Amino acid sequence: AKSQGPATLQMFNKEMSTRAAKTLSLQNRLRRAVENAELSAHYQPQVDLSTGAVIGMEALVRWQSPELGMVSPADFIPVAEESGLIDAVCEFMLDVCAHQNKEWQDQGLPAIPVAVNVSGRQFQYARRLLSACERVLATSGLDRRWLELELTESSAMRDADNAIAVVQQLKEMGIGCAIDDFGTGYSSLSVLKRFPIQKLKIDRSFVMDITTDPNDAAIVDAIVAMAKALKLKVVAEGVENQEHLDFLRGLGADQIQGYFFSRPLPADGMRQLLAEGRKL
Ligand code: C2E
Ligand code: CA
Ligand code: CA
Ligand code: CA
Repeated sequence: AKSQGPATLQMFNKEMSTRAAKTLSLQNRLRRAVENAELSAHYQPQVDLSTGAVIGMEALVRWQSPELGMVSPADFIPVAEESGLIDAVCEFMLDVCAHQNKEWQDQGLPAIPVAVNVSGRQFQYARRLLSACERVLATSGLDRRWLELELTESSAMRDADNAIAVVQQLKEMGIGCAIDDFGTGYSSLSVLKRFPIQKLKIDRSFVMDITTDPNDAAIVDAIVAMAKALKLKVVAEGVENQEHLDFLRGLGADQIQGYFFSRPLPADGMRQLLAEGRKL
């Protein structure tokens, strides 16, 4: 029989270089996207379970590419992280969100914090992040209590000592932090309690099957109890229906975010929701 080796290897190489080329062109396109204002911010409201009021919003980056159409952040954030473009993406988001939030407050809409996602890499070289925060607060005039950051549990735990120091510096600047995607990153209670944070966001993967999977329900129950013990607010992500909501309320979650109340909205939609004073 003829050996499959070389042909397979060739195919493998071809596939590899196609993938490398794709990543490279995505990188180049993203570089231009940042320059050409193809990025924008969408906002997803967060609702307090005791009052039903909107008490915060998470900013989520959107990329409308002329060639590729709408590109999901799940696809381009990893590319941005590898290529170092993540700093520019984050600085864009900080800038837009701070200015937008200030504008809404100046229009008399209820003042709520806007939470911007940061990646672990930015925490490693935090000076740039810290000065970007200072800069956007100064240029927008937004009071610092209305800007928050979200850092995923897994990036927070990768180099916990450093992350704790950065969160502390942010806190001293008046900027609060939430730990995002909580439950997926294997943190220990002893490390978690050293983080000067205000909020834990329970990952959507646990909320998804909360009403049918007793393990997920038990995990969420434990996270809520732990957060209460540490005096942290708990936000449940990915709340898609009334059953999720009722269950989470029963477990004592403080806030929810998800399609049930609202999908992430373009700026106009978020403004309207705030103007109407929509409640849960
Ligand atoms: P994330 O921070 O966990 O954001 C929540 C994601 O869940 C968003 O996806 C949101 O649209 C989606 N979501 C919200 N509610 C529901 C729901 O009820 N059901 C379901 N199935 N999904 C829901 P999105 O906007 O596609 O963002 C994906 C991820 O990309 C984010 O996950 C975040 O990790 C990252 N990302 C988004 N924007 C930024 C950014 O500006 N900077 C950085 N570093 N990462 C970002
Ligand atoms: Ca987030
Ligand atoms: Ca999350
Ligand atoms: Ca998630």
